[in-house]
Amino acid sequence: MNPPAEPNPESLIAIIGGQLIDGHGGQPIENAVVVIRGSKIVAAGPQREVEIPEVAKMINARGLSILPGLIDTHFHSRDGVKLPIEYELQKGITSFRDPGHPFKYYIIPLLSKETLPRIFLCGGHLDGIHPIHRDQAIRVESVKHAKQAVGWHVNRGASAIKVYFMLPLEHIAATCEAANEQGVIVTAHLELVDADDAIRAGVRGIEHVTSFGTVLANPEDAAHFKTEVRADPNKRRSMRPWLWSRIDLDNAPRLQPLLDLIVETGTFVSPTIGIFEARKVEKYATEEQVRGFQTGMEFITHCHEAGAKIVVGSHTRSPFADSGYAY
Ligand SMILES: [Zn+2]
Repeated sequence: MNPPAEPNPESLIAIIGGQLIDGHGGQPIENAVVVIRGSKIVAAGPQREVEIPEVAKMINARGLSILPGLIDTHFHSRDGVKLPIEYELQKGITSFRDPGHPFKYYIIPLLSKETLPRIFLCGGHLDGIHPIHRDQAIRVESVKHAKQAVGWHVNRGASAIKVYFMLPLEHIAATCEAANEQGVIVTAHLELVDADDAIRAGVRGIEHVTSFGTVLANPEDAAHFKTEVRADPNKRRSMRPWLWSRIDLDNAPRLQPLLDLIVETGTFVSPTIGIFEARKVEKYATEEQVRGFQTGMEFITHCHEAGAKIVVGSHTRSPFADSGYAY
């Protein structure tokens, strides 16, 4: 939405004296210098080893840390710049994606003169004929309609398309085909469609660890879950801990094929695990919720060990993070 202006290619900036964390797993460097020419880092390292050009604009970073900008792949904001500034930019997050809020929620940031993180939008999410969030969803009624919706969004700047859980597999597949033609990916929040089916249909991002539940559960539990959620979508909130507390990853025949599929297709996994957190010490967390959360964490560990691309989505707020610290 708001790509930063290209700096003068000859401008020189030196950030001096901070603790440098390179983001590649290297040891932090104390008292570091980073030299930037135009939009490129041309030197970085301990102060004694890096020559600081005399003409560089100096930024004193003593007592601070220098690290690559963080990316929040699942952040929702509406009608303002307060959250993007306080929850993201001031916390080191220099880019975020809002998967599924309509473009109109971002008119104020678009017109704002404030310094903001880079904002990537999907536009309203594509949902079935009885959408869950009527004010945010694009109601998709046919294959043709799915393709039109993708074109409409991409023409207005969507860098990904979000599909929501009442959208049937056939329309997810049509969405993916159209998005693929337009060069953007589709990312999904699932409850009723199995994640492996969605990935085979072309989805390349899965939002929320819970979207994998029906693949990992035993078939009877998965069928019961779908029947209940289809009848009353609000039941997903209580049914997800139920489903996940019963998942046995050591005996889930579709786990390994799912991991293989995620890795082979390069599908991004955005677990947003923070919003599902349940702790034993908290009175309101049931045994079922705690177990379900732990199994979700185990599944993410499997994804990581298999080599999946895992990204961080804060979902703006989570129950055990102070305001603005969900990421
Ligand atoms: Zn969300």
